[in-house]
Amino acid sequence: MSREQKAVELARKAFLTGRTRSLDYRISQLKNLQRFINERQKEIADGLKKDLSKSEFGTPLYETMGLESEINQAVSKLKEWAAPRPVTKNLLTISDQVYIQPEPLGVVLVIGAWNYPWAVTIQPLIGAIAAGNAAVIKPSEVSAHTAKVMEDLLPLYLDKEMYPVVTGGVAETQELLKQRFDHIFYTGNGMVAKIIMVAAAQYLTPVTLELGGKSPCYIDNNCDLAVACRRIAWGKYTNCGQTCIAPDYILCDPSIQDRVIEEIEKNIKDFYTENPKTCPDYGRIINQRHFKRVMAMLEDGTVAVGGENDESDCYIAPTILRDVKPDAKVMQEEIFGPLLPILSVRSADEAIKFINEREKPLALYIFSENNKLIKRMIAETSSGGVLANDCLIHFSVNTLPFGGVGNSGMGCYHGQFSFDRLSHLRGCLIKQLKMEGVNKMRYPPHTAEKLGW
Ligand code: NAD
Repeated sequence: MSREQKAVELARKAFLTGRTRSLDYRISQLKNLQRFINERQKEIADGLKKDLSKSEFGTPLYETMGLESEINQAVSKLKEWAAPRPVTKNLLTISDQVYIQPEPLGVVLVIGAWNYPWAVTIQPLIGAIAAGNAAVIKPSEVSAHTAKVMEDLLPLYLDKEMYPVVTGGVAETQELLKQRFDHIFYTGNGMVAKIIMVAAAQYLTPVTLELGGKSPCYIDNNCDLAVACRRIAWGKYTNCGQTCIAPDYILCDPSIQDRVIEEIEKNIKDFYTENPKTCPDYGRIINQRHFKRVMAMLEDGTVAVGGENDESDCYIAPTILRDVKPDAKVMQEEIFGPLLPILSVRSADEAIKFINEREKPLALYIFSENNKLIKRMIAETSSGGVLANDCLIHFSVNTLPFGGVGNSGMGCYHGQFSFDRLSHLRGCLIKQLKMEGVNKMRYPPHTAEKLGW
């Protein structure tokens, strides 16, 4: 029996003991996870430093604070989420108990990505634990140091039979995918998502797919460009552009392009100094394969700012590309790196058309002082989430669903959405064996007399 098969079998066996049915058990596991995060900040930060050159101070901000808030919310709301949810009744069931009872699904497979390896692997796990499932955790092999921290330390805090960590690469993930799960929660790219869906189809396993895409950022002329560009520069260059909801490209009127470039450049310097390469807050591309992938996108662009790079260090400077055409290489796939192309549109209508002609993005950013325009753009486009006048922060609001639509993903999570996603919402109706007279009409023979016609 393979290591992967063994882990799944153990998790299934643990689940079948029924101990996750107890809310106290779930809460104690969530609190252990909280304790893990508090006590192991150093190991978490060291792993991220080695994997992505993340700064010590950035780690809590981008990786663990959100998890803590998610855990706190789950602990305080679990009773409410797990309770029967009464529903409106119809005439035939007026004196019955009619309600929705959330119940655990069983064994969930969580497959994480490498860019925010804690946030995107542990956040679904929180939902899985809260909903009373067992979960097999498969961290990305690409962020290898973090995967090792998870493998070594998580079992010291969590019920290790119920929540095993399985490390490894493509072969191990594919071995896991041969097993039967009750839900597969995958974060990563769309190509692999198709492999996941094919594997899931074998057992009719439901999937949640948290993917990426090209998230547009529209800047209206009617806008405080200094503030807008500061927020955009932060959203783009954090984690060296390797953020699933980073603004991928800018759409704006050509008359403001120079100001936009100037303002973003000013903020790059403010955030990361004149030489971002030596700034501890500026990250690195995860590996040489991705370095080459991102650099290839620079081939047919006009660099307005940045462009410096060093393959040996996986360093690419914060870069802005001007006058980019829609058919440029950089516009063909998600950038997932620190390149910011600017494309010209002459109106909001043109921007809407541009966005709607492409795959539905994970996020849409609109910068404008015109509230009506913001609302119109929301009404006339589609994306996983939409944020006006800021970047990224919708991820941190755990009362909002987070997820994609179309090519950017399937299913949403965070807060109660995670709980519901990883529960079966079971419809329950409890009738008494009394008042049989009420049912007379439904039994054959159906006659006009019985129906009172
Ligand atoms: P990745 O390469 O780490 O892959 C993700 C997982 O898929 C890993 O655990 C890996 O083992 C597994 N995998 C890779 N190839 C496989 C194969 N052939 N068969 C089976 N399993 C395989 O991560 P990535 O895909 O490079 O991550 C980047 C992408 O993820 C970007 O598109 C980004 O936008 C997206 N992303 C989305 C979110 C979100 O919340 N929506 C968050 C982070 C990243």
